[in-house]
Amino acid sequence: MTDLYAVFGNPIAHSKSPTIHAAFAQATGEDLRYEARLAPLNGFPEAARQFFAEGGKGCNVTVPFKEEAFQLADELTSRARLAGAVNTLKMEAGRLLGDNTDGAGLLVDIEKNLAFSVANKRVLLLGAGGAARGALPALLERHSALLVIANRNVERAVALAELFSSQEKRVQGMGFADLADFSEPFDLVINATSASLNDAALPLPAAIFAPDCLAYDMMYGREETPFLAQARSAGVLKRAQGLGMLIEQAAEAFLFWRGKRPPTDTLRQTLLQA
Ligand code: NDP
Repeated sequence: MTDLYAVFGNPIAHSKSPTIHAAFAQATGEDLRYEARLAPLNGFPEAARQFFAEGGKGCNVTVPFKEEAFQLADELTSRARLAGAVNTLKMEAGRLLGDNTDGAGLLVDIEKNLAFSVANKRVLLLGAGGAARGALPALLERHSALLVIANRNVERAVALAELFSSQEKRVQGMGFADLADFSEPFDLVINATSASLNDAALPLPAAIFAPDCLAYDMMYGREETPFLAQARSAGVLKRAQGLGMLIEQAAEAFLFWRGKRPPTDTLRQTLLQA
């Protein structure tokens, strides 16, 4: 019997996940069906329970339900626990397991697809919401020289930095204006805010970008996001949108469900061209 998977979100009609997972199923020969499901804003737990009661094997969870999915899971992977959010669920022996594949997807896109090594680099993460939390466990594993979180709401950045600081690594949290105090620029600047969704530019000093910097916007789908336009104006040549992250986090979810990591290169080229 064909196994059923889904993505839950609100809104969800725009989601590329059904296309991506259909391509993965075809490439790996796995017998599965994957559909987009709209959950009511106040009804995600019921919608997910209903899906698993129908025999659903696993699902992805997107905005705004990742924190509710975290609460719903019976067990969590360590990266999901650290992120405080779940984007992938699977039912196994009657227990609901929760994972977060966003950070791994981001790092595969940056390190493998874009051939940019994070080790020993000065890293700036913009934003302190769910996407930033998801990215932090994976970024921390990479032994960057410096990790700074900057956010519009400064308290959120400071709280997140404290949460992720350890004896081995101090993460610094601050507001955008404080970035002007850094004497050395950053090698990697990741936009994990949703400002680009609203066409808003962030109040960033141009001097934050090092000459050989990679500017990465988690948002994707526009010809050029306001953040990437800022980076271009500051002379940054290496600029990328988050479509590669979307595909790689999906591949990590597929691996979590099916035990096989699908190939992503051809699909990435096809979707980038589209
Ligand atoms: P959240 O709502 O959890 O967080 C939003 C963040 O953006 C907060 O830090 C918020 O700051 C900040 N923000 C929103 N508007 C502005 C603005 N006008 N100026 C400055 N800061 C702003 O969203 P997520 O973390 O879930 O998502 C963030 C982005 O990442 C979205 O664009 C989403 O599409 C993208 N994403 C991409 C993925 C991919 O696979 N490519 C995966 C996951 C997310 P404050 O705290 O001050 O409100």
